[in-house]
Amino acid sequence: MVQLSELTRDKSFRTRLILACLGVSLFVSVIYVVVSYRLTAELGVETGLQAMEKEANIILSELVSNNDGLAASAASVATMIYGGNEEEAGIFARVSRDEGIWVYVRGLKASQADDFRQYLADHTDLARGMLEFGDEKFLYIHAERNGYKLDLIQTTTSLDLTMAMVAKRLSIVSVVVLWIAIWLALTLSSFIAKRVQQKNDALAKIATHDGLTGFPNRRFLDDLLETCIDNASSSADSMDEPVAGQGCLFVIDLDKFKEVNDSFGHAAGDKLLVEIALRLHGALSSNQVLVRVGGDEFIIWAPGLNIDEAKGLAKSLVEQCDAPVMINNLAINTGASIGIAHYPTHADSGESLIINADTAMYKAKQLRCGWMLFDESNAVDYKKQLRLRAELTGALEREEIKLYYQPKVSLKDGDIIGVEALARWHHPIDGILPPGAFIDLIEHSGRVQEFGRYIICQSIKQLAAWRSQQIELPLALNLSPYNLLDPGLVDFIAGTLEQFDVPASLLEIELTESETSMNIESIQSRLDALKVLGVTLTIDDFGTGMSSLAYIANLNVNIIKIDRAFICDMLTNDKHLAIVSTALALSKSFGCKMVAEGIEDKAQAEKLLAMGCDYGQGYLFSKPVESNAITALYLKGGSLV
Ligand code: C2E
Ligand code: CA
Ligand code: CA
Repeated sequence: MVQLSELTRDKSFRTRLILACLGVSLFVSVIYVVVSYRLTAELGVETGLQAMEKEANIILSELVSNNDGLAASAASVATMIYGGNEEEAGIFARVSRDEGIWVYVRGLKASQADDFRQYLADHTDLARGMLEFGDEKFLYIHAERNGYKLDLIQTTTSLDLTMAMVAKRLSIVSVVVLWIAIWLALTLSSFIAKRVQQKNDALAKIATHDGLTGFPNRRFLDDLLETCIDNASSSADSMDEPVAGQGCLFVIDLDKFKEVNDSFGHAAGDKLLVEIALRLHGALSSNQVLVRVGGDEFIIWAPGLNIDEAKGLAKSLVEQCDAPVMINNLAINTGASIGIAHYPTHADSGESLIINADTAMYKAKQLRCGWMLFDESNAVDYKKQLRLRAELTGALEREEIKLYYQPKVSLKDGDIIGVEALARWHHPIDGILPPGAFIDLIEHSGRVQEFGRYIICQSIKQLAAWRSQQIELPLALNLSPYNLLDPGLVDFIAGTLEQFDVPASLLEIELTESETSMNIESIQSRLDALKVLGVTLTIDDFGTGMSSLAYIANLNVNIIKIDRAFICDMLTNDKHLAIVSTALALSKSFGCKMVAEGIEDKAQAEKLLAMGCDYGQGYLFSKPVESNAITALYLKGGSLV
């Protein structure tokens, strides 16, 4: 992973930029000087050659017009041309014609003149240009007229003087250019470095902060924990002394975020996340960091916090998440589950601290207890959950999840009036797992619709199988509230009933009140469609939900199942007895049947019957059993008392 520090502060960048700019400006100045010097030199050579050509023309015209002996006329011409500037240049002039050769040498060493003679004898095809002899340079031209051949060789003294002057000027100019270039380089590099730093800061912010809530993200947290914990503990390890300091990490996961998102749309989900993030942040002190790690999961790192203080903070965080949020004019409370891990008690690295807090959070979610502190036994559980989650796909494909059936009876005579289908996972290693071990996993795995349809399909197949044995027994299946968000649910049920030729009146759907109450409006139309289809609707676990009355009134269900929690101690707990009797009165006034679940002894059954409850379900009559056991019971006569 790219280190954030690299992105935020690249200190050598400015120096490197300045050096690069200086390098470029130096290079440009050098090129400028070299090119200018070369151009001037070439121009100087050309000018020198042209001057020599003029001289050659004069010499030749004089020779042609005098025509009185080569040596005499050449000498007079030479005097005329070169007489005045005796000191300036070395000259070698050679004129030849049939009658002979005249050579004029001035300002040159005798050896040089000999070199030229020899050179001209060896190179008869030269026309004009520059010659080099040893360290010295000479300009040369050759001209001919009326039989006269003239070779002129001249030292480059004047050119050298010019070039020396040019070089001097150029070096002054180049110093000025270099100075300007350096100044520009410094200004430009500081401007660029500033811009780059701004961009880097912006990038670092994007890379380390969540776009929606504006709070830091997982990358930021990893960096933070690395500096706070990992580096600190490794340097302490090497010094063989314990790390000073402590801290607590909280993993927070909202409980019903998916429902809000699915029923009210992503905009509402986003609004909820922002609101919750602000609330959580508001509950923290300035050194505690809130991080959104993705979806509906947040992490808080609270350095210096001990376990007792962490418990206090967890309580206030739970309260923040429990307070309703207004979305689309509805007060929604999503609730949250929080896991806490303490450094260094529970982990000695950032990563394991997160894993352990996550494990504790998972446990808190399962127990629906708000928050949990990490302990080792959670970790074993968590690993098992992870394994089961991975095995779920295959389980559905191999039909390892099977339905068991628990009879519902008439309390008057014990006759079986229907059954409830309850899922069991026949796990190849762990044996038969109850729904408590895997329903939550399914609901959090994104396979909830697939699972719902699987249960519907298995149930309708069983109804068809019983029908083929002349057993017409209503079957109630449990659906997760998430299944009601499946837009194709009603069509799927209708289609499957038709496919297996099962009347809708034999199918019952049990919905858990506590979970469903939040979504009352969004699922209303789907429930209405199911009723139109002829399916019976039941409210499960009645009494445990938050808004029972509004719920029953709006959903217009056929059956109410009062929760086992009230039945099990109704004979000793007056309050629970009162709730059972109120639920009965309520069911009567809404015109629906009431089923009491979890009846374990005869006294409960008799009391319920005396109170006017007609139907019951519980271990007193039968535990959930396999389908063939139900077939046998039914065929035997159907009464369970
Ligand atoms: P539930 O719908 O309230 O089902 C009743 C639970 O109480 C069943 O537990 C049943 O075995 C148990 N029970 C029945 N009578 C008695 C009794 O007299 N005493 C005691 N102690 N328990 C009794 P089970 O099968 O473990 O199911 C637990 C929950 O799992 C169910 O509660 C239901 O909410 C859920 N569930 C089961 N199957 C499915 C399914 O196919 N889909 C979905 N979405 N949820 C399911
Ligand atoms: Ca049920
Ligand atoms: Ca129940």
